[in-house]
Amino acid sequence: MTAPYEHDGTPPRDGSRVVVIGTGLAGTRLAQRLGERAVLIGEEAHAPYNRVLLAEVLAGTYTPDVIELPATPGPRLRTRAVRVDRERRVVQCESGAEVPYDTLVLATGSNPVLPPLRGLFEPGARELPGGVHAFRTMDDCLALSGTVTEGTRAVVIGGGLLGVSAARALARRGAQVVLTQQAERLMERQLDPRSSELVRRHLTALGVEIHTECRVRGVGVVDGRVRRVELHDGYVLGTDVTVLACGVRPRTGLAQAAGLDVGKGVLVDDALRTSDPRIHAVGDCAQHAGTVYGLATPALEQADALAGVLTGGADAYTGTRALTRLTLPHTAGPLDLAAFGETEALPGDDVVQLADATRGTYRKVVVRGDRLVGGVLVGELASVGALAHAWESNEPLPAAGDTTAAPLLHLLTHDGGL
Ligand SMILES: Cc1cc2nc3c(=O)[nH]c(=O)nc-3n(C[C@H](O)[C@H](O)[C@H](O)COP(=O)(O)OP(=O)(O)OC[C@H]3O[C@@H](n4cnc5c(N)ncnc54)[C@H](O)[C@@H]3O)c2cc1C
Repeated sequence: MTAPYEHDGTPPRDGSRVVVIGTGLAGTRLAQRLGERAVLIGEEAHAPYNRVLLAEVLAGTYTPDVIELPATPGPRLRTRAVRVDRERRVVQCESGAEVPYDTLVLATGSNPVLPPLRGLFEPGARELPGGVHAFRTMDDCLALSGTVTEGTRAVVIGGGLLGVSAARALARRGAQVVLTQQAERLMERQLDPRSSELVRRHLTALGVEIHTECRVRGVGVVDGRVRRVELHDGYVLGTDVTVLACGVRPRTGLAQAAGLDVGKGVLVDDALRTSDPRIHAVGDCAQHAGTVYGLATPALEQADALAGVLTGGADAYTGTRALTRLTLPHTAGPLDLAAFGETEALPGDDVVQLADATRGTYRKVVVRGDRLVGGVLVGELASVGALAHAWESNEPLPAAGDTTAAPLLHLLTHDGGL
């Protein structure tokens, strides 16, 4: 682990100080690419880790050290950045340290959305009551882990990717899990109704009780701990531990206070540059061409592109076509799924789908004109690479008979996979 960085004001030998705020996937990747000239500032007490794998830690599959990211070569300062003084070009930290920069990169990620549930916050309270956790950080994960044993009653609020991951991890730890989802199906942003139903069946087989179209109204706190989750129809769920998986919001406070242009995220151009040319932003906190991705692949691609920009290799960033992948382990075999683009057709689109109820597999692609615009694969992912490539390149699909289209055509015309 890198020792806390004591900044002495000495500029690195190459004369350009790049300071990166945030030791998540994007910040750490950028620091790896830039080498010793990058100074990392991160508030989390743990060595930088791969957030995507937190559910595996919660499930007990991995210990925290397994998901640590490779060490970065430059200095790392373990503190929170509290202010960016653009005039003096200095980052002020909670620890009292002042870190000067020539180039500053915001890689501050996202904050969990805390829903306005009755009883969740006492008037004036700044902290959540006991027994309720977000699911964003290693600390959240370890705190949750510490309270879950066989038979613990757990309620997960939110049935997106995060809620589904949390529910299956808690179920694997032996908890009695109830998952409440406001939308009509699980992972409605990524999955079409049929694939969502397969995920639902899989979770149900793990023992998770699922309520869709179910709005949570409030929580009941007893002796400082959440003990009840109250649904909109008046139904009350008893709970020992409650997980809030209600989405995330880009963490833009520092940028906003520094007077940078902020929309949903920190606005950046194709050089990942903010409205101040000395300050860049990457990952979950950045908004590029109207999009805040909130996903790992775009965060890594933005970090790589910015490394190119800052080292003169000048990769412009033009956007990411991000694929969602999830593996839901089960003793009877894992359920793998991948989804990309638009999984529901518009009028006039061509849709091809193959389903095998016995094997629990489902494959569907949506084609608009001569382009692949989306697809979802459940249980049978052999063709995911070829499909993702056809989607990411956004090129016209080759006509039937052209052998370069073989993987896609196989998927469209042959049952049983490749
Ligand atoms: C449980 C879970 C499962 C996920 N699963 C998937 C998945 O399957 N697929 C997928 O694509 N994505 C997934 N994601 C989302 C993915 O993790 C994020 O998109 C990715 O981590 C974004 O990287 P980032 O570096 O931009 O932000 P983050 O990883 O959030 O890192 C930001 C870091 O900056 C630090 N920071 C913020 N402000 C300051 C400050 N002022 N001073 C110092 N430090 C600061 C934060 O503490 C944090 O460590 C998942 C997320 C979670 C929580």
